[in-house]
Amino acid sequence: MSMKETYVENLRKSNFKITPQRLEVINFLEKGNYNHFTAEDVYSSVKESEPTITLATVYNILRALKESGNINSFEVNGKTWFETNVQFHGNLVCDSCGKIIDVEVDPGRFADLSSEASYKITGANLVMRGLCPECNSAEQIENH
Ligand SMILES: [Zn+2]
Ligand SMILES: [Zn+2]
Repeated sequence: MSMKETYVENLRKSNFKITPQRLEVINFLEKGNYNHFTAEDVYSSVKESEPTITLATVYNILRALKESGNINSFEVNGKTWFETNVQFHGNLVCDSCGKIIDVEVDPGRFADLSSEASYKITGANLVMRGLCPECNSAEQIENH
């Protein structure tokens, strides 16, 4: 099954209709030009082929895609980021240039946490802040 077919199948399973606008957003996801993207990124790309689409509609479509398990979202400084990587992972955010990269995180590391709080953990959004290698070395040069 292609990525597109999987996205469509997941939407159907969650009882979302397949509309031309939803398909355009799926096309955006399938292109995979961004690892992490905002609703504005989707809007500016999709409106080229769907000129009547609004930013609010894009938000609604992204919400449907998230509810159907196709995408994940998290917040950084009040801004919502979306991603097609729905596996458990950590997002490293650079405080200087804003770059976001994915890092693998072993969910087993959270076993201690869940038993401490007597919670069964079923999901998490892991966002870590810091400086990317480029910004970190630029800062070191400045300080010397
Ligand atoms: Zn940076
Ligand atoms: Zn990510």
